[in-house]
Amino acid sequence: MTAIQPPLSMLLELTHRCPLQCPYCSNPLELARADHELPTETWCDVITQGAEMGMLQVHFSGGEPAARTDLEDLLAHTKAKGLYTNLITSGVGLKPARLARLVALGLDHVQLSLQDAYMKEADRIAGLKGAFATKQAFAAEIIEAGLALTINLVVHRHNITRVGAMIELADAMGAQRVEVAHTQYYGWGLANRAALMPTREEVETALGVVETVRAHYRGRMRIDHVIPDYYADRPKACMGGWAQRFLVIDPSGDVLPCHAAKSLPGLTFDNVREKRLSDIWTGGAAFEAYRGTQWMPMPCRDCDRREIDWGGCRCQAFALTGDAAAVDPACGLSPRHATVRDLATSEAAAPPPPFRYRRMTR
Ligand code: SF4
Ligand code: SF4
Repeated sequence: MTAIQPPLSMLLELTHRCPLQCPYCSNPLELARADHELPTETWCDVITQGAEMGMLQVHFSGGEPAARTDLEDLLAHTKAKGLYTNLITSGVGLKPARLARLVALGLDHVQLSLQDAYMKEADRIAGLKGAFATKQAFAAEIIEAGLALTINLVVHRHNITRVGAMIELADAMGAQRVEVAHTQYYGWGLANRAALMPTREEVETALGVVETVRAHYRGRMRIDHVIPDYYADRPKACMGGWAQRFLVIDPSGDVLPCHAAKSLPGLTFDNVREKRLSDIWTGGAAFEAYRGTQWMPMPCRDCDRREIDWGGCRCQAFALTGDAAAVDPACGLSPRHATVRDLATSEAAAPPPPFRYRRMTR
């Protein structure tokens, strides 16, 4: 048996609090309240353990990580441990003086989400008036501070025809990299799937636009493109493969193989308040459940892509089939592939229902 390698990085969901309400948010429908969040010293201990395991990067995420007043302490601790730091932010609520403090502490990189190329539409999707303008000002501050900036674009039926304009805007904002990601249908994205699903024609046009724009910006701005699963023939390696490279820690300290793993029934998740991170990574039940290839059904088990896509996404398999160990229906070799394609086609053809905005309800 090959030894389990440590993860490359960990994503710390410091909080589920967020000023925005994006209807495709990957957070669970049951959002963790502030009084369930880990305290500063536990997060610092987790970061120390990650460094001792040999991890290289820490991603501060949420919700909005800047909603934590101890973000500076956590960043300082991470830098003291020699790790690369990335702040994944909405850009709303992070004032210039605070950004300056984070820069002074050694923040390496910022990922800023952008909802649309047009202000009115962007604010509608974010569920917050003024969000678009605030993000523009925030991006200018990042560039002024000399930080590396990636713009995250989540694409769906309401903005897919403007994907080229969104990339142009990211360039104008000074991004070195753009990540174009078609909506992943889990968490709030699954709850809003019918409201977000584009047509196959829209997706194909967008793929062509991204390729053209990518050629135009080559050498100046890198464009990464995550292809939409529902219209694909083969799935992608979710999180680089279950329990292969990344782990996620949610606000309460539960350690997850991916953002949406809590949507899977029957899995138990260890918590950093009770167990060491290295023990969770190497022996935690949730990590062991779908690590490697032993769990795979046919045809994955004999497939020459089994160590490339690692059987696709478990959360998607469960959402679409009710069986987390099924072949990901995004794969053309799944017996349910045609059903999923038909479902996407019919949802995209119907008028979009209203958004169910991501909100803390209690
Ligand atoms: S996707 Fe939107 S609502 Fe969810 S954490 Fe990011 S900015 Fe907040
Ligand atoms: S059969 Fe399984 S391993 Fe092969 S491409 Fe499809 S999902 Fe991936």
